[in-house]
Amino acid sequence: MTIETIRTTAEPIASAAPWVADLVAELPGRAFTLNDPAYDELRQVWNRAYEHSPAVVVRPASAEDVAVAVGHAARAGAPIVVQATGHGIVGIAERDAMLVITSAMDDVVVDAETWTARIGAGAKWDKVLGPAVAAGLAPLLGSTPDVSAVGYTLGGGMGWLARKYGLSADHVRSIEVVTADGLIRTTTPDDDADLFWALRGGGAGSLGVVTAIEIDLVPVTSMYAGNLLYPASMARDVGVRYREWLDQVPEELTSSVSFMNFPPFEEVPEPIRGRSFAIVRGAFLGSDADGERLLDHWRSWRTPVLDMWGPMPFADVATISNDPLDPMPGMSSTEWLDAITDEIIDTLATALFEQDGPSPLVFAEIRHAGGAIAREPEYPNAYGNRQRQHVLQVVGVAAGPELVLLEEFVRQLQVDLAPHIAGVAYLNFLEGAEKVRRTSEGFDRDAFDRLRLIKAEFDPHNVFSHGLALV
Ligand SMILES: Cc1cc2nc3c(=O)[nH]c(=O)nc-3n(C[C@H](O)[C@H](O)[C@H](O)COP(=O)(O)OP(=O)(O)OC[C@H]3O[C@@H](n4cnc5c(N)ncnc54)[C@H](O)[C@@H]3O)c2cc1C
Repeated sequence: MTIETIRTTAEPIASAAPWVADLVAELPGRAFTLNDPAYDELRQVWNRAYEHSPAVVVRPASAEDVAVAVGHAARAGAPIVVQATGHGIVGIAERDAMLVITSAMDDVVVDAETWTARIGAGAKWDKVLGPAVAAGLAPLLGSTPDVSAVGYTLGGGMGWLARKYGLSADHVRSIEVVTADGLIRTTTPDDDADLFWALRGGGAGSLGVVTAIEIDLVPVTSMYAGNLLYPASMARDVGVRYREWLDQVPEELTSSVSFMNFPPFEEVPEPIRGRSFAIVRGAFLGSDADGERLLDHWRSWRTPVLDMWGPMPFADVATISNDPLDPMPGMSSTEWLDAITDEIIDTLATALFEQDGPSPLVFAEIRHAGGAIAREPEYPNAYGNRQRQHVLQVVGVAAGPELVLLEEFVRQLQVDLAPHIAGVAYLNFLEGAEKVRRTSEGFDRDAFDRLRLIKAEFDPHNVFSHGLALV
């Protein structure tokens, strides 16, 4: 994996092109150019390492607004960039582009009878979590409720329930999408079935603007979940012990091992602030007694610095990872691993804990996949690499010149890991130019060929050119 982050900031054009002026006239209060006060706020990206500078930002209130906007941009041949939050940015919108910000389309309707939710494109998972929990149900969100349900699901969507229930993309019943021809389509296993297949795993920013999805919710109200923190000096032993644990655990457990340097920031609680740990975290969907028995593997071993595993209501799922909510500059990269070998553990421990460089603000997490992820869902989709067992994510926080150092650090880590990795990617953990360059690695070969044909059919002029690279 190579970091080739695209963060250039182009100056927006001073006067609007005719298609922009027409669009602004047709969508008053929902389309903004450089001179509008709303423009600067709307073009922000959660990952502050990036900045959009489009010709126009559209904040549609409905699928019909999206259709109008797409029609104008597509007729003008302008690139269309879609963003909910900017947690997983791919291409930045430059002066010729239209940026669609979905945040106003955030309606969520939970149906407790059918165990489903209809979710608007701009809704973050936190807006789904409350009503789902109130109905005794759970959505298949990931480690943070702060990303959009749609953006997360289009890239796969792997959370703490994944080994038991599969990916979020495996539990989609329908997707409403505006395609490059300006049509609003409701795709299902029976209608526009090819597009429905492609969007689930291959749809992020590349096939149209999704305006809403209908998903399954699952009957989970509580878990046995949490974190065990061991000192960084024990990282190698923890890695090996974790590998041994995975040989015995059921699908009801989804877990990870992380090597983490906590920043010396005030918001970080005192016992962990500025310190480094090897962390075993996860969620078990079974009785508390069985959860305790699973944790015996650790508790009968060595005493951790902190043991926070215990019964947890599903409503608190975000506390497992405690991901940051405030926007920040940084980067994320990833690799699928076939096994957690001694060499991989050693390479990560050395890089994260034992050498100079920007490592204090870097963490590496290996998540356990397999289980239901490895099985084809009821309605197959484009998502690839189902059989892979472990996904590594490397995340760093840095700005300015330190971001360049961080990228060099991660690039070196990639070089060191190269002999031991599968050479394929989980697309939700990639961003920027690396995501473009490695798009094909996210798919099985036949699926990628099919995806490209579907892309050619529904977006022949590649107006959605700033998402996955399908051309
Ligand atoms: C702190 C953090 C924790 C995370 N945890 C997990 C995790 O546990 N599991 C996991 O699988 N992933 C995780 N991710 C990755 C996350 O799921 C992806 O970054 C996801 O793409 C974010 O979606 P978004 O819509 O919020 O971001 P955005 O940057 O707005 O969008 C991401 C991509 O989706 C496209 N997109 C968004 N909305 C639409 C739409 N309506 N129509 C078409 N395309 C659209 C965008 O064009 C872009 O390509 C995490 C990311 C962060 C930063």
